[in-house]
Amino acid sequence: MKTLTCDVCKSIITTPVNTRNYFHMVHREICESCHDKLELQLKPIVRTKMPFDYEWFNNLVRDSVEKAIQKGRFDVK
Ligand SMILES: [Zn+2]
Repeated sequence: MKTLTCDVCKSIITTPVNTRNYFHMVHREICESCHDKLELQLKPIVRTKMPFDYEWFNNLVRDSVEKAIQKGRFDVK
């Protein structure tokens, strides 16, 4: 059986389906719960960015994910 490990919280994702129970982004595997936290963390930042810039967003996602990987979690309540 195919399984994946979340790069942030190290939880095992069984029968992974991309964009359903895990997300492959910035060359990392992220579980659904971490992806929810990433969205929560980025939403207020993204709201202030007008006009929206895809490259800026990509960098923001990468930085946030790399920081979360170092800490083992996203900093959201
Ligand atoms: Zn995770």
